Amino acid sequence: MPSLTRNPRAFLRVRRGSLEGEMANPHPQTGGSGHLARHDGLEIGHRADPYRERAKVAEPCVCPDCGASVHDGRWTWQPASPGAASHRCPACRRIHDRVPAGELTLEGPFLAAHEGEILQLLTHVEARIRQEHPLERQMAMHQDAGHGRTVVTFTGTHITHGVAQALLGAFAGEMQASWPEGGAPIRIRWSR
Ligand SMILES: [Zn+2]
Repeated sequence: MPSLTRNPRAFLRVRRGSLEGEMANPHPQTGGSGHLARHDGLEIGHRADPYRERAKVAEPCVCPDCGASVHDGRWTWQPASPGAASHRCPACRRIHDRVPAGELTLEGPFLAAHEGEILQLLTHVEARIRQEHPLERQMAMHQDAGHGRTVVTFTGTHITHGVAQALLGAFAGEMQASWPEGGAPIRIRWSR
């Protein structure tokens, strides 16, 4: 099977019916391996990420922007240890630089008619994933009424995909995803 990651123009089109296997997974956004399970059986998670810490962050440390702290090499929401050094976390660096890791575009007549409940689910899923994975968060939301679409940006690829999958699971519709190379944000489009 050709690898989609080698083709920046590659698009993946998914309908709800093809996701039944993943719905059995209680953590579909991460799969069993900790990496995002792709529908073609491949995985992402090793893409070049310019915001990944290159060296191990010295502990204890705390992000001055969001309050996340590093424990045992992982960013967590646990309270920082006394005397923790200040170190901006990768998610806040993306927010500061306005460089998202993922972009989700919502559109279609169903969105226009049910925007309130769709955005409510999006907010709920975003909060759940952010609670579990401090570096995976929503960055910004732009509601483009003129074109009938809403664009949401995220600090992580997993949350971008996880939110899109939750919308697909709850409201059906259609999802298209592209994984560009070179650290560019993944782009997912959900429409109904
Ligand atoms: Zn932070």
